[in-house]
Amino acid sequence: MKEIKLFLILLFLGLNVYAQKIDKIEPPYWWADMNHNQLEIMIYGKDIAKYKPTIANETIQLVEVKNTENDNYLFLTVDLSKATVGNFKIDFARAGKKNNFSYDYELKQRKENSKFRKGFDSSDAIYLITPDRFANADTTNDVVKRLKEIKINRKDDYGRHGGDLKGITNHLNYINEMGFTAIWPTPVLTNDMKESSYHGYAMTDLYEVDPRFGTLEDYITLSKKASEKGIKLIMDQVENHIGGGHWWMKDLPSNNWVNFQKEYLGGKTVITNHRRTTNQDSYASEIDKKLMSEGWFVADMPDLNQNNQLLANYLIQNSIWWVETLDLGGIRQDTYPYPDKEFMSKWAGAIMAEYPNFSIVGEEWSTNPLLVGYWQKNAENKDGYHSNLISSMDFPMQKAIVDALNEDETWGTGLVKMYEGLANDFSYSDPKNIMIFPDNHDMSRIYTQLGGNLTKTKMALGYLLSLPRISQIYYGTEVLISDAKKPGDHGLIRTDFPGGWEGDTINAFTGEGLSKNQIEMQSFLKQVLNYRKNSEAIHSGKTLHFGPEKGVYVLVRIKNDEIVAVILNKNDKEINLDVSRFSEVGLNGRKVKNINTSEEFIWNNSLKINKKGILILTTKL
Ligand code: CA
Repeated sequence: MKEIKLFLILLFLGLNVYAQKIDKIEPPYWWADMNHNQLEIMIYGKDIAKYKPTIANETIQLVEVKNTENDNYLFLTVDLSKATVGNFKIDFARAGKKNNFSYDYELKQRKENSKFRKGFDSSDAIYLITPDRFANADTTNDVVKRLKEIKINRKDDYGRHGGDLKGITNHLNYINEMGFTAIWPTPVLTNDMKESSYHGYAMTDLYEVDPRFGTLEDYITLSKKASEKGIKLIMDQVENHIGGGHWWMKDLPSNNWVNFQKEYLGGKTVITNHRRTTNQDSYASEIDKKLMSEGWFVADMPDLNQNNQLLANYLIQNSIWWVETLDLGGIRQDTYPYPDKEFMSKWAGAIMAEYPNFSIVGEEWSTNPLLVGYWQKNAENKDGYHSNLISSMDFPMQKAIVDALNEDETWGTGLVKMYEGLANDFSYSDPKNIMIFPDNHDMSRIYTQLGGNLTKTKMALGYLLSLPRISQIYYGTEVLISDAKKPGDHGLIRTDFPGGWEGDTINAFTGEGLSKNQIEMQSFLKQVLNYRKNSEAIHSGKTLHFGPEKGVYVLVRIKNDEIVAVILNKNDKEINLDVSRFSEVGLNGRKVKNINTSEEFIWNNSLKINKKGILILTTKL
């Protein structure tokens, strides 16, 4: 009996010694048969660098072992080009010590056709969601004691409200019926920050789902259920920075893991100058360029040094790991101009090499089309920069649409802003792969930007959903969520979706308690999105538009027999629109249908328009 006890104690001690050796191993697993088959494995554990790792396996070769200035990290490069599915053993030995151990590293089987997964494109309408504010399906995960922010308070705009991944999964029917074909939830990985952790952009563990949003299983389930409905899941990733609470920051892997590391360790934070044009400017000074790219985005978001090759590999693998694990239909990359731009080209290139039909959209918040277009694949850039990015975001057109609708009609103001904004498409290598949106999680709500005007909001949405673009709409736009109380306030922009919480008196999922205007907006958007879903003219048709005259602007999309004519009218009084100017479209004598009212008529001579607003007409009856 005594001996058994002693044995158990020794066994316990033995396990304990083993457990202390490796605290983290990342990526936690990989797959056989990947294009990326030179895998860099980061191992973290007390004094792990004092061990010599070996792999005794015929199909797997340990190519390189790298140490850094910190003995608690070890980086192994393994060649998996001949590897097969299953576990392989990594043996760790330390001279003169008895506590040698080994680790079983798993190589999973890839999903069939994983390589050829399709990303989003101009046939997609993406629903952007702030998960904390959409729907709370599981109140048991609202508070997680081991994390720093441990309360939820729906009255605090910057506090956590309890929304989660299951909340999105439970409402996929609604999203599908609205006519969306993809979802982009803002980041849901762990943000163990003291405050404002709800927004997700201060990640403190790049391999862990924030338990307040659910589990990795919940995330996979969301992807699977969405995919069953033909809805793609887009993941929001951040290569530029991490949250100050990231576990790396307590024990930095090397002397140059984050930018301005020495200053940070000396108690000083160097913030970026946000001069994003330094990426393109031929006259930019070195000091401006360095501060732009290496300065921290904000004080509690350490800026990653992608010139450190170990970190660069880590980040690329992390992105691929999530694509494969979640079966993603796209990536949205945050703050695209801020990381090292050569790294970003490699990053996007590595993902596209792994998944040739995939899509990535990068955020360049600029209203200058030249800057937006610079990042798009095949752009002919003067500095020779080659980007592997399929899509960047259309902030220029977003602003043009808002200005066009808010300004009075004169020769140089009003609808002409849309007309001339779209004319800038000649500067993009591939305009239909640029992403258009009326607003997003960082901007004032479109309804607020348009002065709380329902007609203008319909005009903006109907127009942008007809453009040769990938389209994205922020959750709650359909029920006119407003931040008019404090325009631009982030917490307010990310207001709770009505009906997402038990006991909500207004429920946008069921329509209960919605105002007349909210119902009108929701049904308008539903009609437009569902028409768009099957409209080849909108997905990939020819684009034609006519200079605004007398407060009317006409945009046409044409593919084979389908002609879609979008008429924006800013006149308050009834008008008779002479359609002879549009004869080159080929609509004369053809029957057209209003996609919202289903009213049908023959396109001839003049068109009576009795009120301000938008008409979307199609030849598809
Ligand atoms: Ca919850």
